[in-house]
Amino acid sequence: MSKREPIVMIPGPTPVDDSILKAMTHRTYGHTSSQFVQIYKETLSGLKDILMTDGEVIAVAGAGTLAMEMAVVNTLKNGDNLLVISHGHFGDRFARIAGRYGINADLLTASPGEIVDPEKIAAELKRKKYRAVTVTHVDTSTAVCAPIEDIGKVLSNYPDTLYILDGVCATGGIEENMRDWGIDVIVTTTQKALGVPPGIAICVFNDHALARKKALGTIPNYYCDIDLWLPIMHDPTKYFSTPPVNLILGLNQGIRIILDEGLEARFARHHRYGNAIRAGIKALGLDFLANPLYAAATLTSVFYPDGVNDTEFRSAMDHYGILVAGGLGPMAGKSFRIGHMGNITHQEILLTISAIELSLRRVGHNVKLGAGVGAAEAELADHL
Ligand SMILES: *Cc1c(COP(=O)(O)O)cnc(C)c1O
Repeated sequence: MSKREPIVMIPGPTPVDDSILKAMTHRTYGHTSSQFVQIYKETLSGLKDILMTDGEVIAVAGAGTLAMEMAVVNTLKNGDNLLVISHGHFGDRFARIAGRYGINADLLTASPGEIVDPEKIAAELKRKKYRAVTVTHVDTSTAVCAPIEDIGKVLSNYPDTLYILDGVCATGGIEENMRDWGIDVIVTTTQKALGVPPGIAICVFNDHALARKKALGTIPNYYCDIDLWLPIMHDPTKYFSTPPVNLILGLNQGIRIILDEGLEARFARHHRYGNAIRAGIKALGLDFLANPLYAAATLTSVFYPDGVNDTEFRSAMDHYGILVAGGLGPMAGKSFRIGHMGNITHQEILLTISAIELSLRRVGHNVKLGAGVGAAEAELADHL
């Protein structure tokens, strides 16, 4: 029997719905044609609905890291102070980007699996003046979800300090209420909880962030300069640099799926799936990297039990049709990560738990077959 492609239960790219792939196969439009302009505009407006904002949305060819860089260079300049709240690898990335532009980044770092207490952030802001704070909503290396609403409350006492949020592993799966939570910039991308193939960098700037850009004037990065992009976002019949036409068609369909499902229902579904994954794995006796209080709804990082080898386990998972990711950085070899976000259903959740049971057994770790699936089913059954 021929083997199927495994299901991509990694923290991005996530499984892509057939309707999105189909939308992307449309004959490539001219990038300033009226048909495409309409689709582009609708896409930008849909992103505003998802991120609950009246701000300016910019969606261009690139990945999440480009969006992070756009946020940094359009709000900070050489010599400015930036406070980076880091819950892992992607938090740290903001400091690396800032360093390239001579921006002074101070890091507040949590021990792996924990969060930086918002009170600590408050104390640091009292101690020193910062032009901006970056927060990673869900750090994909640790599967920790930051208390972004509480951090917004702390930052509301510092109107000159911008709140920049990396939503990459959360947008479309966990609420990000830009308007009500005082978030000035959100950066995100397509291949995670939005459920669309990789390739579009998305940034949203509110009035506060736009005023900062105005004060900065010309910045030391050309492609990232939002002043070159905003006229195109307002009127896509104009040209600056060619948009990823077919990817925008896919994103447009991805947004339709999200808004049709309804934001509240979608966030609740992600919450449920996170609980189901963790209940299933817990029933097999395995531990998590993230403190359960801060466990993300979109992905989970799981410690290997003693004697289970990372490579062997993940190839067993592949054998059973499920792709999971290894640990990042200091967690490499010690843990694996499961993405459970975007356009998946209970089927992928239950298959994943089933494959984990079978794979642990295959690599010689004794588990009770069905124990994990049963526990996950118990979390889901009332909602199916
Ligand atoms: C994946 C990820 C990124 C990087 O996105 P790329 O598209 O791979 O550049 C940044 N931040 C977080 C939280 C992520 O999960």
